[in-house]
Amino acid sequence: MAARAESSREGGSDGAFHAQLSRSRSFCIQPLPDAFCDEGQRLGEALCVAMQQLITIQAVQFAAVMSGDMDFTPFDLLIHKAEKIKNHAKRAYIVHVKRHGCF
Ligand SMILES: [Zn+2]
Repeated sequence: MAARAESSREGGSDGAFHAQLSRSRSFCIQPLPDAFCDEGQRLGEALCVAMQQLITIQAVQFAAVMSGDMDFTPFDLLIHKAEKIKNHAKRAYIVHVKRHGCF
């Protein structure tokens, strides 16, 4: 089952999973409104990337479950790690915007 989850997580071919994550990263490379300073822009992009990566992992897990893969553990570990990264990025973004007022 673990091998099946690994295959599903990678989209059935080497690097497909990471390619999806890379696409989600490029989605976030869009400028925020001019009211954001460079650091606010960078933190906003980091939060967007983290959120997109979490969504991507969950989407791949959903596809794996729909194809019959019932081994949740590998995905749950990835989701847990992605949630931690997203929450860290969210806190950094919120703290910056509150302190700097670039909003
Ligand atoms: Zn700022």
